[in-house]
Amino acid sequence: MTTPSLGHPTLAEFGTTIFAERSALASALDAVNLGQGFPDHDGPAEVLEAARAAIAEGHNQYPPGIGVPALLQAVADHQRDWYGIDLDPTSQVLVTVGATEAIASVVLALLRPGDEVVVFEPYYDSYAATIALAGGDRRTVPLRFPDWAVDEAALRAAFSSRTRMVLLNSPHNPTGKVFTRDELELVARLAREHDALVVTDEVYEHLVFTDSPTPHVPMASLPGMHERTLTIGSAGKTFSVTGWKVGWVSGPADLVAAARAVKQFLTYVGSGPFQHATATGLGLPRPVFDRIAADLQAQRDRLCVGLTSMGLPISRPDGGYFVIADLADWGVDDALAWCRALPERAGVAAIPVSVFSDDKESVRSLVRFAHCKRPEVLDEGLRRLAKAR
Ligand code: PMP
Ligand code: GLN
Repeated sequence: MTTPSLGHPTLAEFGTTIFAERSALASALDAVNLGQGFPDHDGPAEVLEAARAAIAEGHNQYPPGIGVPALLQAVADHQRDWYGIDLDPTSQVLVTVGATEAIASVVLALLRPGDEVVVFEPYYDSYAATIALAGGDRRTVPLRFPDWAVDEAALRAAFSSRTRMVLLNSPHNPTGKVFTRDELELVARLAREHDALVVTDEVYEHLVFTDSPTPHVPMASLPGMHERTLTIGSAGKTFSVTGWKVGWVSGPADLVAAARAVKQFLTYVGSGPFQHATATGLGLPRPVFDRIAADLQAQRDRLCVGLTSMGLPISRPDGGYFVIADLADWGVDDALAWCRALPERAGVAAIPVSVFSDDKESVRSLVRFAHCKRPEVLDEGLRRLAKAR
């Protein structure tokens, strides 16, 4: 019996995501996983309890297509209370299966083949894949280690008459950069000049550290941007429950409706009981959010001190789950190969920054380490890394 030819699968060039590949290997080899960004501790007890209660109360069948009313309302309340952004919960919010589906729905809904999307690189891996699925072209603007500042000339040069969308991420994976208000205003100005939409991935919005020089500024809160911005959030990051896969997108009703039309044929609906629990979570008082960020900040410090004490130059993140180090002084000039060998060689998993970049040469010695891990796990990871030198 012969197997039918596969032809050219649409996303063949993207292979298996590096996160899945590294985590599978880390787990097979019992390596310390500083690769994939997920916390190894549970989120707030109130949120976990709300999920149990939602199951016990029988919220176990298909939820409504746009999301359960309690969560739509909670997202609208959250945007108003934290950022002064007004949303109609019934037409301007859509619940998705994680931020990943929000990104896919929006990109597939709003791009026409040949449209260009401006993205900063390094960029989160699903951006390139979904832009490719939609037949769009990405135009990347480099952020450079270690300060990751926006180069205005490079940003301007990335825009053209074909620009349909800017796909922004702040706080940023993998760099930990929090875009300043000035940088966001520049992006906003260029988007308006080119009549482009802005899709802003703000999944790390509540994970900004107290010593960040800039707070998180939502793009939709800037003057003149509400009407051209779609904002994406995720319970996974906000409440340390990455397995729940509850995300959302909010913005102008016509854009949200376009995303909803795609979403209904991707997953239809998802994460029923966890939607109720996320609604409870978003309504919790601010100290709960502050505590999660404070714990993460201590973990960041622990990993930064450890890496620095091994003589590695790092860029200290202002938010999010990751620290980037430059391993050039250790003789690493192909971080992809180095990271590939690391679990077997030293019992640690890490991610080369080149998987987030089109210009792989400029990041060839950079490695991303996740700091969202318990102190003893970070310490063990650092001990093993020291031996890999
Ligand atoms: N955007 C960014 C920047 C991310 O880092 C991630 C993954 N953690 C996602 C989106 C996907 O989020 P989710 O797990 O909610 O799908
Ligand atoms: N966002 C996480 C990371 O960057 C992983 C999510 C995923 O595996 N898709 O590590």
